[in-house]
Amino acid sequence: MTMFTEESPLRVAIIGSGPSGFYAAESLFKREIPCKVDMYEKLPTPFGLLRGGVAPDHQKLKSVSKAYDRIASNENFAFFGNVTIGKDIAVKDLESAYHAIVFASGTESDRALGIPGEDLDGSYTATEFVGWYNGHPDYKHKVFDLSKKRVAIIGQGNVAIDVCRILAKTPEELATSDIADYALEALKDSKVEEIYLIGRRGPVQAAFTELEIKELGVLEDADPVVSTEDVSLSETDKAELELPKNHKAQKNTAILKEFSERGEGVKKRKIRIRFFESPMEILGSDHVEALVLGKNKLEGEAGAQKARLTDERETLAVDLVFRSIGYKGLPIEGVPFDEKRNVIANEEGRIQTAEQTHQKGYYVTGWIKRGPSGVIGTNRADSIQTIDKLMEDVGHLLTPEYDSNDSVLRALEEKGQRVVSFEDWEKLNQEEVRLGQEKGKPREKFTSVEEMIAFLSR
Ligand code: NAP
Repeated sequence: MTMFTEESPLRVAIIGSGPSGFYAAESLFKREIPCKVDMYEKLPTPFGLLRGGVAPDHQKLKSVSKAYDRIASNENFAFFGNVTIGKDIAVKDLESAYHAIVFASGTESDRALGIPGEDLDGSYTATEFVGWYNGHPDYKHKVFDLSKKRVAIIGQGNVAIDVCRILAKTPEELATSDIADYALEALKDSKVEEIYLIGRRGPVQAAFTELEIKELGVLEDADPVVSTEDVSLSETDKAELELPKNHKAQKNTAILKEFSERGEGVKKRKIRIRFFESPMEILGSDHVEALVLGKNKLEGEAGAQKARLTDERETLAVDLVFRSIGYKGLPIEGVPFDEKRNVIANEEGRIQTAEQTHQKGYYVTGWIKRGPSGVIGTNRADSIQTIDKLMEDVGHLLTPEYDSNDSVLRALEEKGQRVVSFEDWEKLNQEEVRLGQEKGKPREKFTSVEEMIAFLSR
């Protein structure tokens, strides 16, 4: 059995620097075995969805990055930002430098509705919008036509709520967030007045969580509007609310009932939270003009109710559509992919080949392992499970040709790739915070890779 020592430690490459990647690193450092962790990240900046996904007005959630800073301060940790595995370096090439590779690359794309008109101008994915307002370099150039009045958001997960809240807040409410400056400017001119938040099932089944839905009731210039009909529960719904551990549904339903008692409200913007409706078609000649909705009824037992389409249809005049029905993982060249679930094929974190055997030395964690669900902390337990498996496999890991990462770093250098270290990131971070302070914001983000590299080269 391979014996790892301080001089010859276990060497692990982690691909992706979001929460699941950092929790994998943390878990590795907690083991008995001496270990070196190299974390590769496509962007020059770490933290994945914590930086590019978590809403800019939810700063408290972002403070978990302090824990990641502590992990990164471990002397056996190194960060290699601005490196895309599968493009700048082939996955296979990592095998010559590491005993194990842990994929923590998240779910970068989004699920499609598969309805006519989905790609019309004015129909956007939540991923694009979230990336745009969060200053993600891949989305900064997107243009959202906010000169329109009526917006439909499809889906009722927490991402849909984030999108809704950013559209509904006043510029003053957003000014102290770390929203990208160009997004704040565009939102200042927004003419959006009616926001429809559309769910295919009922209040009891809604995917959002208590705190997030509650926030829609305390906005400066937007009222939540819920019909009393939508919150009058069926007998099955009542039974569902009584199921053990269904606190989320109980809390959500109580909040929605309270919203329904408020009527239309008096504020300028309306957030119309609607239930039991599925999108059937987006209409428009060259731009979104309307959304055809099919009325659903629920079928099935309490706790397993599914939406079943009826013959009833409604055409809702809207100018913009945001599709927020869940993220989707993308395959990585050279890594087995489960096309049905859109995740890297795995068994409790061990990557599985097409023949259902473990691909030696290959592991996966986070959303690209289990799908896009749960909160940030969910990734901790998930990563511990993956590292448990890795530890069980010690003795049967990869046998790298070299005893360091030199081969990988040399290959990147030969390509002329400007690799960004954690110290480099700390310089970017300090500058972002400094720029933010001038405007009363937690930070003003660099939003282009070129700007970041130029700043680091000064
Ligand atoms: P999500 O929670 O899975 O919600 C997806 C929503 O889309 C659900 O309402 C779902 O309805 C609906 N949907 C799916 N397919 C549909 C279709 N074909 N037609 C109509 N509606 C459809 O996904 P998410 O909002 O992207 O969030 C991902 C994860 O990140 C979640 O775990 C979420 O809690 C987390 N998150 C947390 C926060 C926070 O803590 N503040 C913020 C953002 C995200 P059904 O329920 O009927 O399937």
